[in-house]
Amino acid sequence: MVTETVVRIKASFSNKMKNGNPIILKDSIVNNDHLETEGMIIRLVDEQNRFIGKGYYGRQNKGYGWILTRKENEQINSEFFHNKLLKAIQYRKSFFQDSETTAFRVFNGEGDGIGGLTIDYYDGYYVISWYSLGIFQFKDMIVEALSKLVSYRGIYQKKRFAEDGKYVEEDDFVAGERGQFPLIVKENGASFAVYLNEGAMVGVFLDQREVRKAIRDRYAAGKYVLNTFSYTGAFSVFAALGGAVKTTSVDLANRSRSKTIEQFSVNGIDYEAQDIIVEDVFHYFKYAVKKQLTFDLVILDPPSFARSKKVTFSAAKDYTHLLKQAISITADDGVIVASTNSASFDMKKFKGFIDKAFRDSNGKYKILEEYGLPADFKTIKEFDEGNYLKVVFVKKIK
Ligand code: SAH
Repeated sequence: MVTETVVRIKASFSNKMKNGNPIILKDSIVNNDHLETEGMIIRLVDEQNRFIGKGYYGRQNKGYGWILTRKENEQINSEFFHNKLLKAIQYRKSFFQDSETTAFRVFNGEGDGIGGLTIDYYDGYYVISWYSLGIFQFKDMIVEALSKLVSYRGIYQKKRFAEDGKYVEEDDFVAGERGQFPLIVKENGASFAVYLNEGAMVGVFLDQREVRKAIRDRYAAGKYVLNTFSYTGAFSVFAALGGAVKTTSVDLANRSRSKTIEQFSVNGIDYEAQDIIVEDVFHYFKYAVKKQLTFDLVILDPPSFARSKKVTFSAAKDYTHLLKQAISITADDGVIVASTNSASFDMKKFKGFIDKAFRDSNGKYKILEEYGLPADFKTIKEFDEGNYLKVVFVKKIK
């Protein structure tokens, strides 16, 4: 049996944790002197020594680990990981059966019972992301459980934690056969080129699947589309497939041009008929205002936090400003797709940013629809931060 280290939780945190909140925040721990080895099993008790749960020690942002079980006698062993993965795989049964979509999330951290661990599927390949050195200590058991439960072409991993203060981005092949990259996966019938061996980002963010489908099926036909913070142009591809007159993709990163050309090409779209611009979005807005350009559909999907040479962008502080720029170049009756993956504010606050931006612009608007995470990104109601994605389709009214 593995030894368990007792960790006492402050009274102000213990109720929430007893009620199902799985994160072990640094600030919740009475005394963390004895937390030494990442991956050690810890037994959480309240100040009266009453059992709260059992979990592991692993540092991840403000967290010091995650609760894994609330059963006092349950062991964290091969069987434990096997059962969690089995349940997660069964929950995605319809995804595994859908031949039109071959990329989705198989295991979503605390939503599936193990904080700090995600597993994504890309047409026969699995990518395991470890968010702390602590969860990485369970690698052998988790890889073994996955290998027994699914047949795969290959397994890759991403270490999303700092080792010796540095984030490692390497070719992290784990098992099976190495992939040929780009690997072409499908999403609702469209194609994406993904690279599982080029660092944390593989080329597409799977959590926006439903938003892309909505844009293609219901918003793009006959429209001029501006896609800001476009990365590999996934939204632009879906807009073009949906019949957009032209898409304009804007991203600061040099690599975005070739990556976007590639995504258009694997979908049989003539990229030369589209605009792909490598520039700071805020510069582009100024240029567009000066040239009196307007767009019918404007997509805003910035990172939660970004630092460029001159400016830092923080979604929590700067989203209203970003929206105001977007409003100024959106045509009357045009639609803004406002998206954020920031866990630091909720939908209510996000709608407040939208409201303020339109009021400051003396404009009227109507919210057409809203999206959160798709079903494969399973979340639990006891952990709001896990439900980070907020997307609002807003119509600008004259
Ligand atoms: N919307 C994308 C994902 C965005 S990822 C998609 O759905 O696939 C965030 C992107 O924002 C990165 O590609 C990064 O290069 C870009 N970025 C960050 N700051 C920027 C800025 N000021 N102007 C333009 N692009 C920026």
